[in-house]
Amino acid sequence: MSDPVIDPSRPAVSEEVAIDILGMNKWYGAFHVLRDINLTIYKGERIVVCGPSGSGKSTLIRCINRLEDHQAGRIVVEGIELTSDLKHIDQVRSEVGMVFQQFNLFPHLTILENCTLAPIWVRKVPRREAVDIAMSYLEKVRIPEQANKYPGQLSGGQQQRVAIARALCMRPNIMLFDEPTSALDPEMIKEVLDTMIALAEEGMTMICVTHEMGFARQVANRVIFMDQGQIVEQNAPEAFFNAPRSDRTRLFLSQIL
Ligand code: ADP
Ligand code: MG
Repeated sequence: MSDPVIDPSRPAVSEEVAIDILGMNKWYGAFHVLRDINLTIYKGERIVVCGPSGSGKSTLIRCINRLEDHQAGRIVVEGIELTSDLKHIDQVRSEVGMVFQQFNLFPHLTILENCTLAPIWVRKVPRREAVDIAMSYLEKVRIPEQANKYPGQLSGGQQQRVAIARALCMRPNIMLFDEPTSALDPEMIKEVLDTMIALAEEGMTMICVTHEMGFARQVANRVIFMDQGQIVEQNAPEAFFNAPRSDRTRLFLSQIL
């Protein structure tokens, strides 16, 4: 079976800005975790973020849906500037779906209930419609038959696909993935990556923190390397992997490839 290959040069990326980050800095107390981040992401881009543990990758993507706040600079998502205004936070969270390393499903709710909860209570979608939408996404991630089970009855790979379906049920324009395969056994990684590849092929704007460099080569149109709270280097995958410019990038790649 051959994997679907996306040509990074195909004109899927629009000129419209999805996310604009300007001179952004963040501190945890006295610790300066993100330094002078400038990053513009266009609609339809498939960004892979990599870098050593502790370099600020999770913090950066958590700032994009305001799971974390920033202290300097600007973050504008789908035209909404992220401020402490709660209305903006709700707006942005409905535009941005997030999938975590630890699937974060509600253990006491069925798979279907996990997928319909937020659409019904946050988006005020009628229950019937929410169920139809949820079933369509569970089909898309190829586990509709698990709808009435509980998360604990599913494998890690299946739970992660539910987490992806659950995020999609909110009909986000942007999807953030924070090491979605890092907690999975090797045989389950492919099924989750395949789901992400399918999403990318549909033109979803995606930012994926991952060390799956095969995925990066195949799917990303841009790879970003972070170290010590900074974006050190970014490039198209071919150039990034074949001709890294900075010593830090070369060192990192030599350790993971
Ligand atoms: P990565 O995802 O690249 O491994 P993180 O964004 O999780 O990095 O963390 C970046 C740095 O910030 C690390 O040094 C980490 O220990 C620190 N950090 C992360 N979260 C917090 C927090 N809530 N409070 C204080 N320090 C934190
Ligand atoms: Mg992290």
